Formats: sequence, structure tokens, C-alpha cells
Amino acid sequence: MINNVQELKTLLSRPKKIVITTHKGPDGDAIGSSLGLLHLLKQLGHKVQIITPNEYAEFLHWLPANNDVINYEENEVEANNITSNAELIFLLDFSHLSRISTYAEVIKNSNSIKIMIDHHQDPDKEIADIIFSDTSACSTAQMVFEVMEALDMTNYLNKEVAECLYVGIMTDTGSFKYASTSAKTHEVIAKLINAGAENTKIHDLIYDNSSATRVQLLGYCLNEKLLLYPENNAAIISLTDNELKRFKFKKGDTEGFVNYALGIKGIKFAVFIAEKDGIVKLSLRSKGDFKVNEIANEYFSGGGHINASGGISEYSVNETIIQVEKIINKYKTELNKSN
Ligand code: 5GP
Ligand code: MN
Repeated sequence: MINNVQELKTLLSRPKKIVITTHKGPDGDAIGSSLGLLHLLKQLGHKVQIITPNEYAEFLHWLPANNDVINYEENEVEANNITSNAELIFLLDFSHLSRISTYAEVIKNSNSIKIMIDHHQDPDKEIADIIFSDTSACSTAQMVFEVMEALDMTNYLNKEVAECLYVGIMTDTGSFKYASTSAKTHEVIAKLINAGAENTKIHDLIYDNSSATRVQLLGYCLNEKLLLYPENNAAIISLTDNELKRFKFKKGDTEGFVNYALGIKGIKFAVFIAEKDGIVKLSLRSKGDFKVNEIANEYFSGGGHINASGGISEYSVNETIIQVEKIINKYKTELNKSN
């Protein structure tokens, strides 16, 4: 860390053209950590552009400087131009280039110095020159704060930086309840609130700002689409493209649905399957030491964290349900272990 910090300090000592990128389907941590870092770097006099691989949920659009973000899918020419002129590129909240879709090629071909800040397992050391990796960190947003502290730059912690990092930490810890939430997390949060992050307002804007159709879709999922396997402590919820259309689905609407299945007494393994634009995506969640990242990796070309992972299926929703049922069966001994 010390060498990395010194090197980064030197790199940031003069104004530079900087790109920040993060994983596809950016979530609260991806966008919060990216915008938090942008607000720090802009104060230092750098020219900063955030480029996401694709669009993200509307409940994140209120974040300060959200309009400064462009997405690669819709602005390929501009993004290519900016990336090829960048002197520094920050890679936030992902550890493999496969996580940034078609933008990966552009990043790979760029000669710029790359800095990874990330909390995922098994980082690909080939893709960045300077790597801050901490798999025990609850969020990349917390890591951005820690890097900021290490750089001795907390005097730049203003309301904008604080609110963005707060969103990243809050969303990646399930509002400070997952096992990754540490005393340090709460210490960082205290500093963010002291710096102006309005915690109640932020919770309200992220969690209590749903469309009526989103809440109705949730009701439909829980009432009609929940499959329970109580003998193996597992549950599945699934949705097809047609069902999503019926409830006027917008990006981000199904975020958190899987947690309702995991919230059922005894359930240790919950799977949410949804077909979006013809692609079947899975969200896997667990409690205790049941490692869903290994399952995501082995069966669904994905990955993530021990208790929260994701991936894609090559099959239809119904076929994927059958596949997941087989997996539940295969792991039944582990799922029935008490811990
Ligand atoms: P979610 O279920 O919220 O989409 O994703 C949960 C976590 O799983 C993410 O924070 C990310 O770490 C990981 N993840 C989700 N989708 C993928 C994927 O397609 N590939 C990989 N490697 N990780 C994923
Ligand atoms: Mn994250």
C-alpha cells in the first residue's frame, strides 16, 4: 500500500486527463465510488471523465455530477477519443476486464497508467499498474475513502465526495448489515456524515423512491413466483421478459428482490433469475460460509463475493430454474450444515 500511495501521490501532483471506469450494470458502489473519486480529483485540478460500460438505474441519477457520466454503449466514438487521450485510468469495483464488456478492448489497448481500486476476489494483476485490492473491504467506496486518507487528502472531503461514497458503502453493505460491515465502516460513515452527507435523505432517495409498478412487481414475485426448498434451505424467484414488461420494468427495479427470499427464516441460499432483453441473469445470495461466488463461477460464467454474486445463464428461465434445482440438490449436505 505504501509504495502504491507514494506512486499515486506523484501521479496526481500535476493536473492530468483522467478516465474513471467501473463494471457493467453499475450498482450503487460502482457509481458512488466513481463519482466520489471524480469529486476529489476535480478539486485537485484534474480533467475527469467517468465512462461506464452501459446505463444504470435511475435511482442513482440524483448523485452530484451524474450528468458528467457517459456510457460506452451509447457514446462509443466520444468514449474512444477520451480514453485514448487519458493519462490515467482508474478501474473501480471490478477485478477482471470481462466485467466491462465491449469497453474492455479499448482499455486493454490504451497506453495510459491504470490504477485499480477494488474489493473483489482474485484481481487480474495484468490489467493495472497500481493495484489497491482488499477483499475484506465492504465496498470500493470505503476503499476510495481509505486511499484518500492514505494520500493525506481528507481535507478535500466535501459534501459531494461524502454523499457519493456514502451511497457506495450503504448499498454494498445492505445498509450496514452484511458481514463485511466493520467498525472501520462505521468510522468512515461517521466522517462522511460529519462532512455533510445527509444520511436520511440518501436512504430515502435510494430505497423509498420506487414506482408503484416496481412495488407491485415485488408483490407479484413474492406471492406468485417464489419457489421454496425448505428441506435444503434454498429459494428461487424468477421473472421472464414478458412478466417484466407487464410491470413496466425499468433498470434497477428488481434490485434487492433476492434479499426477500434470503430473509425467510432458515433460507441460506437464495437465487433470483431474470430474463432481461433476452439475456438470463442470476443474482445469488447466501448466509454464512456457503460460497455463492464459486457457484456463479462454475455454472454461470460469473463471480462476485462469498455471500453475493451474479452471472448469466445460456438457457431459458425455466431451464435455468431446473439447473439451479440440481445445484441445490448437489449442495444439500452443505446447505443443511448448521452454522
Ligand atoms: P447482483 O446480483 O447485484 O447483480 O451482483 C452481485 C455481485 O455479484 C456484484 O457486486 C458483483 O460483484 C458480482 N457479479 C454480478 N454479476 C456478475 C457477472 O456477470 N460476473 C462476475 N464476475 N461477477 C458478477
Ligand atoms: Mn462493490
